[in-house]
Amino acid sequence: MTTTKKNFRAIRKSAFTTYKKCQKKFEYFYNDPDYWNYGNDSEEKKSDALIKGGEFHDGCESFFNKLEGRVFTPNLPSTFKGLTPKSGYDDVNKWFDWFVETEQHRYTELEEQNLVGSWFPVAMELEVKMKDNIDRTGHVYRVDVMPGIKELCIVEYKTGKSYDMDNKYSFTDMNAEIGFYVNILNKAKVFPGYKMTHWKVINPTLEKIWMNRISPISLKAVDVTYAEITGKLFNKGTFNRNVTKLCNWCPYVDDCLFKGEYEY
Ligand code: SF4
Repeated sequence: MTTTKKNFRAIRKSAFTTYKKCQKKFEYFYNDPDYWNYGNDSEEKKSDALIKGGEFHDGCESFFNKLEGRVFTPNLPSTFKGLTPKSGYDDVNKWFDWFVETEQHRYTELEEQNLVGSWFPVAMELEVKMKDNIDRTGHVYRVDVMPGIKELCIVEYKTGKSYDMDNKYSFTDMNAEIGFYVNILNKAKVFPGYKMTHWKVINPTLEKIWMNRISPISLKAVDVTYAEITGKLFNKGTFNRNVTKLCNWCPYVDDCLFKGEYEY
């Protein structure tokens, strides 16, 4: 019997990054009836960290939406401050204050160069999809234009302490995550005439912003890993387990490991 792509679910970014951490976990996740709902749990099921992260994402989006593309010069601090929502969490309010301050700096710098039009994101909360042997899909939070040129920057908001791009593991994981989106955006020509060349990570917990050129090696590595995943799915290959302390937090641990096989 010929296997066709119709038999397979699209591969989400979260599934792709899961594969890199544990292939077996990818297999469980990919076959999970909740595959499409992962990350969209009801509020009761979400941890505080997820709720706060979600509030921050939503607040940053509404910040830009409320400006409706209008450019302001006088009273920038007070104009911007009123554009983020009030959270019930003190740390989220602190994140918003820091975010507004950084955007104010960015705005002022661009204004001095007469490039303030580049300050507004060109896209937010973008669902992306690319036709492939097995389709690829994901959700991009924000895309900015590089000032004065036809190049784009993909922007990620990360509120966890573990997303420290000065740490080489975070940096490598982020390259894979960003690379997954960038390949879709460039190959599916989501922004015709523009090339995605940079990534930026904004972390209000660490009060840091990292910006870097997208590495062609990372993009190649994403495609190689993708081909490996689709090859295993088509040929019913083996998805190896990666037993580490992280198994303690894996939702599939009871199906995957015998009690006592690993201290969990
Ligand atoms: S329990 Fe550990 S080895 Fe098994 S799927 Fe989860 S992360 Fe992978």
